[in-house]
Amino acid sequence: MTFLLILLILLLAAAAFVLSNRDLRTRHLSRPLYQVFRRILPRMSDTEREALEAGTVWWEGELFRGRPSARALHAIPAPRLSGDEQAFLDNEVETVCALVNDWQVTRRDQDIPAEAWDYIKTHRFFGMIIPKEYGGLGFSALAHSAVVAKLSTRCSALSVTVMVPNSLGPAELLLHYGTDEQKNHYLPRLARGEDIPAFALTSPWAGSDAAAIPDHGVVCKGEWQGREVLGMRVTWDKRYITLGPVCTLLGLAFRLYDPDGLLGDAPDLGITCALVPSDHPGVEIGRRHFPLDAMFMNGPTRGRDVFMPLDFIIGGPDMAGQGWRMLMECLAAGRSISLPSSYTGMAKLTARAVGAYTVVRDQFRTRIHKFEGVAEALARIGGHTYLMDAARVMTAGAVDLGEKPAVVSAIVKYHVTERGRIVVNDGMDIIGGKGICLGPQNFLGRAYQQLPVGITVEGANILTRSLIIFGQGAIRCHPYVLDEMHAAQAADPEQGLQDFDRAFWGHVRHTTTNALRAVGHGFTNALLARPDTTVAPEMARYYRQMTRFSAAFATLADISMLTLGGSLKRRESISARLGDILSQLYLISAVLKRYQDEGRQAADAPLAHWAIQDAFCRAQDACAGVLANFPNRPLAWVLRALLFPWGRPFTAPSDALSMAVADAISQPGGARDRLTRGAYVPRDPAEPVGAIEAAFSAVLDTQAIEARMREFEKAGRVPAADPRANVRDMAEAVHAAGGLTDDELQRLRARNALRDRVIAVDDFAPDFQGPSNTDTTGERS
Ligand SMILES: Cc1cc2nc3c(=O)[nH]c(=O)nc-3n(C[C@H](O)[C@H](O)[C@H](O)COP(=O)(O)OP(=O)(O)OC[C@H]3O[C@@H](n4cnc5c(N)ncnc54)[C@H](O)[C@@H]3O)c2cc1C
Repeated sequence: MTFLLILLILLLAAAAFVLSNRDLRTRHLSRPLYQVFRRILPRMSDTEREALEAGTVWWEGELFRGRPSARALHAIPAPRLSGDEQAFLDNEVETVCALVNDWQVTRRDQDIPAEAWDYIKTHRFFGMIIPKEYGGLGFSALAHSAVVAKLSTRCSALSVTVMVPNSLGPAELLLHYGTDEQKNHYLPRLARGEDIPAFALTSPWAGSDAAAIPDHGVVCKGEWQGREVLGMRVTWDKRYITLGPVCTLLGLAFRLYDPDGLLGDAPDLGITCALVPSDHPGVEIGRRHFPLDAMFMNGPTRGRDVFMPLDFIIGGPDMAGQGWRMLMECLAAGRSISLPSSYTGMAKLTARAVGAYTVVRDQFRTRIHKFEGVAEALARIGGHTYLMDAARVMTAGAVDLGEKPAVVSAIVKYHVTERGRIVVNDGMDIIGGKGICLGPQNFLGRAYQQLPVGITVEGANILTRSLIIFGQGAIRCHPYVLDEMHAAQAADPEQGLQDFDRAFWGHVRHTTTNALRAVGHGFTNALLARPDTTVAPEMARYYRQMTRFSAAFATLADISMLTLGGSLKRRESISARLGDILSQLYLISAVLKRYQDEGRQAADAPLAHWAIQDAFCRAQDACAGVLANFPNRPLAWVLRALLFPWGRPFTAPSDALSMAVADAISQPGGARDRLTRGAYVPRDPAEPVGAIEAAFSAVLDTQAIEARMREFEKAGRVPAADPRANVRDMAEAVHAAGGLTDDELQRLRARNALRDRVIAVDDFAPDFQGPSNTDTTGERS
């Protein structure tokens, strides 16, 4: 026994000596390992490498390292709108919202009205991301996001029309890669709305796998403006192109070949992006798809052997073949903003209008928000909306700090759209038949119809979750893996060995310390993870658990990569769950930051608690899912026992907390106003949301009268024979029996008129022609 102990000590000492001596370590350990690495690591394709290397690593990198610091989180500047940006939201955005009526856009015009198109163009909504020097608005990402969110509370066609030119497309690509001539020509025209852009990547044969597009161009000579020039003959067949049917400037992605060596000796130059005027001979455009009854312009475009000069390439001929890199580098900014903002807008609309509806609507002689079942759904609406807005703001803030957060943009795209789906679905359930029957009075049904659109575009959600967030994120955010891969593929093996040695042993140290910390935090339930003194005491527990989950995640990620290796890419369910853990930690950080940045509002605490507890439950479910499906079973048992020795630390938000959240969104006050800040709320009670707001106020203003009326009725003082003693006309019966003054009756009548407007549902002539019963304009609907 003593002999074995001595042997063990000697072995450990020898290992420590070898590891601490760089020469010995490199010669005896790193070199053989490096040779194995170089042999087994599959070569990355250019498109894979460009996707992996695009963008920057930001706060998610801290989460990946297993040591997120509260001080660092709070030190990220709180994003703020400038005075000009706020004024634009309060004036121009408010005005354009008032110009558009979703029902008329859908049923009557099949487009947003001409007046709104003009307004958008002249007020430079299409130039939010274009700097002022080119005539654009030069807005921050936060302002851009706030505009899209507000438009989405009004009409999806309006918001998509504004969103797309400001997302990944001609303007963004020109800003980064355009030649001066291209920028000076196109950017002012795009900012003024004289050119309407669209960007065509997707083909019928390559949707998610966009790098596989069969659309191609061949470099050749041809005639352009009366001269023979070097150009390309391009053939394409694209579909689903937003603004395609009305665009005047088509961004086109295709693969460029140079079989005759006119540009150099590479026959396959790769994906190339060009800008083609839509009136260029041979461009087929104008037909429309019909995406779930949405009225934004979307359709196919085709062209066969269309000759265009090389100057059409964004950035000129030098950028031939650089298209995929360009797209990957620019993807993060748009993906961080467009869909997260529009889904947050839909959630705000739901929270605002449905929260109020539950106060206006009675069943079983009770306001429906008082039923626990409804409160549970209201809590999901409130908690998720709080989190979605927190993530929207924090991520837009990152873009404003100059980040191109590739992984975070995928996290918010996926998780904010998925939570938006939950919120709108819950809203629909709460308002019942009122949400089902479309018409001018339905304020939510159109948002519900549009939900799958954002889930599908900018990386369909299943793919984003399964392949992008962790699949790319693990390599991108991990402090050592990308360096190891670069070293393994280095052209100079000696330099590669030095880099590998540094990265590999750093990795070993990182994994070991994180594993020890994760086990320690597991056994102590993170009690020893001391959060910074700057954190709100009521949130301290979450900071501790964030540290614990972050260390556990880093450990699980490393062990998964180590044991599953390259097959992890195919084990999408495991990869997706690892991505879920990272994502929930990012979203929890966003909520903690929002709570801190907004001055720790006590009234908002239930919303923050609910959102964080729900996100932790999702994170721990994902951890459990990884372990339950880990192929190496003994290792999974050991990991479960070490990381979660006392079981799961979180339970779903309690009923009491859910009731508090439901109250926060169904009662007037700061919490409700902050949660729905930036939503378009029409004042006109002829508008459905305006009617709900007015009825909500009227119900609250008449609460005391209502309570006395109920007492009177309960005391049996209303004659049983009075047919007005029913759910609709009780005020009349109580008044007749002497329980209400004339003035009180008038106030209840006014309230009931608004209530009746809110609960009204549209009906139409059998052929659906003519106005609905609720349409006071008398227009054909
Ligand atoms: C309304 C609308 C607007 C659009 N606007 C534009 C535009 O302006 N420009 C443009 O170029 N394109 C646009 N698109 C195209 C959009 O980006 C694609 O629809 C999207 O990339 C998905 O492609 P797909 O529909 O062909 O689905 P598919 O690629 O056929 O995918 C089918 C399913 O398989 C899943 N999947 C695919 N690969 C994987 C994988 N490796 N792992 C797990 N799951 C996977 C997907 O998530 C999806 O659920 C738009 C689409 C729509 C519907």
